[in-house]
This record gives sequence, C-alpha cells and structure tokens, in this order.
Amino acid sequence: MKAWEKNIRRVVPYVPGDQPAGDRLIKLNTNENPYPPAPGVRRALGEMDYDRLRKYPDPAASVLTECLAGYYGVDKNQVFVGVGSDDVLAMAFLTFFNSEKPILFPDISYSFYKVWAELFRIPYEMTALDEAFLICPEDYYRENGGVIFPNPNAPTGLLLGLEQVEDILKHNQDVIVIVDEAYIDFGGRSALALLNRYENLLVVQTFSKARSMAGMRIGFAIGASGLIKAMNDVKYSYNSYTMNMPSLVLGEEAVRDETYFRETVGKIVNTREQAKKRLRLLGFSFPDSMSNFIFAKHEKVPAVRIFQALKDQQIYVRHFAGPRVEDYLRITIGTDEEMEVLYDFLEGYLRGEISGKCF
Ligand code: PMP
Repeated sequence: MKAWEKNIRRVVPYVPGDQPAGDRLIKLNTNENPYPPAPGVRRALGEMDYDRLRKYPDPAASVLTECLAGYYGVDKNQVFVGVGSDDVLAMAFLTFFNSEKPILFPDISYSFYKVWAELFRIPYEMTALDEAFLICPEDYYRENGGVIFPNPNAPTGLLLGLEQVEDILKHNQDVIVIVDEAYIDFGGRSALALLNRYENLLVVQTFSKARSMAGMRIGFAIGASGLIKAMNDVKYSYNSYTMNMPSLVLGEEAVRDETYFRETVGKIVNTREQAKKRLRLLGFSFPDSMSNFIFAKHEKVPAVRIFQALKDQQIYVRHFAGPRVEDYLRITIGTDEEMEVLYDFLEGYLRGEISGKCF
C-alpha cells in the first residue's frame, strides 16, 4: 500500500438504477414519469438563446426560487433549489446533521441516506419498519441528531398521514426533521402544511417524478428562512453555480402549467390503481402504494427470476438485494400501453413457471 493511499476517502457508493440505451424497451425501473414535460418546456427549449450559455447562470437561481415560492405560498427566502433532490438532500445532511448523536431514518428507505451519512461521517441508526412495512412514529421518540424519512416511503410506496408526520415533529423539536417528498404529488398531503408550526421542518421535493424532468436535475427544499440561509451558506462554500441556465428557465415553465401537471399526475394515479387490480390477479401482493411505483411480491415465483425474465424481454423493473426486500420488485407506473405489455408477458410467463416447476 502506498503511503498516500491511506488518505483516500473510501466510500461504498449509492447504485442508481440502470439507464439502458435503446427505444424499444419498457423502462419501469427508476420511477421516471412516462409522459413528456409540459408543452411550455419544449417551447422554451426551442426558443432558448444559446449565447446565454457563455455566461454563468444566476447563482441565487432567483427566477425559479421566486416561482416556487409563489406556487407554494411561501417567502422566496424559504426556498432552496439544487441539482435534483439528491443534491438538495446531500446539502441538507451537510448543513443540519452535525451532532454526535445518531441521526435516525427507516431501515427500508431511500438507500442514499446511509451513503451520505457515511460520506459525511454522520453517526446514524436505522429504525425497522413494522411487519406491514410502515414507519412507526414511536421509533423516533428517542434522542437523536436529526431525522429524515421519505413520505411516501421508497421503495414501499406507503404514505404516513399528516398527523403521524406531525407526531414525529412534536417529539423532535430540538433537531432538524427532513421530510423527503419526492413522491408526494401522487397521493399524499404535504408536510408544507406544518411549516408555520415547526421551524425545524425541512420539506424536500423534486421535478424528477410528477413534473417529468428527471433529465433536467431540479430539486428544492422549503423551510424556515433561517434553515434556507444556512443551506445557502454551505452551498456557497462548496459550489456557487449548482443550477445551470437551462434548468432554471425550463423549471419555471414546468411550474407554470398547473393543468398539464394535474392531468399527467391524474393519469399515473389511475394507471396505478388499475395496476393494483391487475397485479393482484396475477398473484402479486404489495403495500398500498401512494406513489408512482408498486413494490410487489409474487406468491410463488421468486422476484429475481421474474426480474431476469422481464429484462430478457427488454422490460426493466428494479430489484434490490437484502433481507426483507429481496422478494420484491419495484415496478414504476408507465403508460397504460406499457403496463399492458407488462401484464401480458407476466400472464404467460407466470403460468409457465408455476405449472412447470415446484417452488
Ligand atoms: N428521494 C427519494 C425517496 C427518491 O426515490 C429519489 C429518486 N431516486 C430522490 C430522492 C432523488 O431524486 P432526484 O435527485 O432525481 O430529485
């Protein structure tokens, strides 16, 4: 071992879902939106002045920040934008989780939390979900250095009611509580409703799911202005220009079109509810998802086998290794047409598997 090698920061990185190339595949593996971004986004993209790329973008991302503040009815000093919610969450970990006491998050949850905690050397403890995969607010009553959980949770899709979110906040008023609402638009009430009562609450959302813009990388946090100022101070100590110019312009266009937003979210919710019926008929069971994916387990055929069989057909879903989750597939809700291809294939495949083999 070379002397300098011991100074290298060694981390076990987060593993993102596959982004396979080609247009003949059905991609239900990374919770993207199957519909295009709002028409205004395309228009603005076409009209974009490429000479503006010469200049640095606005480091304060003022136009997008103000647009989000208007949309959510908060002050512009209460909004922080970043390069996807991953960037916003990482910045929040760095800013708020500096206690010697462990931060708390669910043990089946967004696997990036553990990676950031390790990267930033933040002590952490994971609290087990119950047998039904639910977050138990009582697990968060003990002393800690901060709390973070997704709502709805990922990859289970289960939603915690606003009363339970408030219960966690009530019991954690001495630390920052981050509610990661990447999927909230598909069925829940946002913790933004609690902002006025809890100045230690930070709500994080993204343009990657309900707003169809995963490729643009836009995320944001809303909280008390003191929290946002602290996050900005950390951001400006790290990289002033996180948001590129096209993201700022196109992000604003996406927020403007409320009708299109409601329409696409509505379509996905309908397809999801239909998917629950169809998957149940095929022998799957799953927690009652309020997100744009379903975490499903088959009664007879192991998840890895189904995962591979689907992949061989160019149908991509997500499978996670690890206790309690390895029996499940996380299936993103696609268009009705894409879902029909999935059901059709599963019907034939599962019939063959079940009749031909003994599990
Ligand atoms: N939080 C959760 C719970 C997620 O599932 C994801 C998507 N991988 C993110 C945050 C990050 O999404 P993005 O960086 O695209 O906003």
